[in-house]
Amino acid sequence: MFNALVAQQSDTTITCNFEQWDNSQLPDHPVLIKVEHSSLNYKDALAVTGRGKILRSFPMVPGIDLVGSVVESTSTEFQTGDKVLLCGGGLGEDYSGGFAEYARVPAEPLVKLPSAMSSQDSMAAGTAGFTAMLSVLALQDAGITPSTGKIVVSGASGGVGSIAIAILARLGYSVSAISGRPEHGNFLKQLGASEVLPREEFLEPAKPLEQQRWAGAIDTVGDNLLAKLLAQINYGGAVASCGLAGGHKLNTTVMPFILRGIKLLGINSTYIDNQQRQRAWQQLAEILDHDFWAGISQHINFQDIPEYAEKLLAGKIHGRVIVDISK
Ligand code: NDP
Repeated sequence: MFNALVAQQSDTTITCNFEQWDNSQLPDHPVLIKVEHSSLNYKDALAVTGRGKILRSFPMVPGIDLVGSVVESTSTEFQTGDKVLLCGGGLGEDYSGGFAEYARVPAEPLVKLPSAMSSQDSMAAGTAGFTAMLSVLALQDAGITPSTGKIVVSGASGGVGSIAIAILARLGYSVSAISGRPEHGNFLKQLGASEVLPREEFLEPAKPLEQQRWAGAIDTVGDNLLAKLLAQINYGGAVASCGLAGGHKLNTTVMPFILRGIKLLGINSTYIDNQQRQRAWQQLAEILDHDFWAGISQHINFQDIPEYAEKLLAGKIHGRVIVDISK
């Protein structure tokens, strides 16, 4: 038997409680993992509080990120004792996730923990860091280099935005941050932003083409802000669109695409293939060190997940939250 935070549905109400589970209650996947750490993401907070349609069936353990050791495997890719991590890939959405002492998962989205990264640091990154890295790689693959020009990052003080700034700055890019919270200005500059611009400047409806300002952008916000960035991208530039913190709509024109040849790059961390996963994690391990991850994260105990899920939804959490599953 082991400890698990389990979501159950009755009528239209979803509730989460700590339960004792056994392995037979885990899904029928090839790799059984003893979970060391998970992390608490916005999606997890919605799942734990029952306020969002995240979980596809019940009973289900939430938790879209985990790191731990393989204890059983029928996959040739993974052996007992391997340190592995999984972010997304349907974990904690399609099948039971990281908020339990054990998880049984498919081999396809599973990645061996890079040797240069500790298990705790991998969860300080979690889905947010993974998404930030995928966004930077998408810009690089589109030919945007530090010499191409400035990169702008929106939703800058959020998980994805702040890690994206740190990655870009360490790779030598000049990074501008867009934030709605001036109180985080110093933090964003410490991460490597050369300037912090107020979000309001970017919320008014965009003209089809505006003054060219950016070689590239990582947008976590969507809606008017994304439309504005598209109109300001330099000739041949690119925007990685990975979030919708400000809304899911996009009211724009074809002008930046056909007159400036810009690219809009969609980022999906959940179902991306394993080769891209390994590439992103390897890069994250090489670019950001333990001091960085320790500086942006806090640890909580397993039993504290429901309390911190409420705090996260109330906007009272800044930085990444690592869940110590054995505590
Ligand atoms: P956070 O909640 O940590 O950060 C979002 C940031 O967006 C906030 O810190 C804030 O930054 C800004 N923001 C919040 N509300 C608004 C608003 N109403 N209008 C404009 N800006 C706003 O989220 P994450 O960084 O973890 O995720 C960012 C987005 O990326 C989310 O939409 C999330 O769903 C998505 N996501 C997508 C993934 C993918 O695979 N594509 C994976 C992971 C996340 P500031 O105060 O600095 O402006």
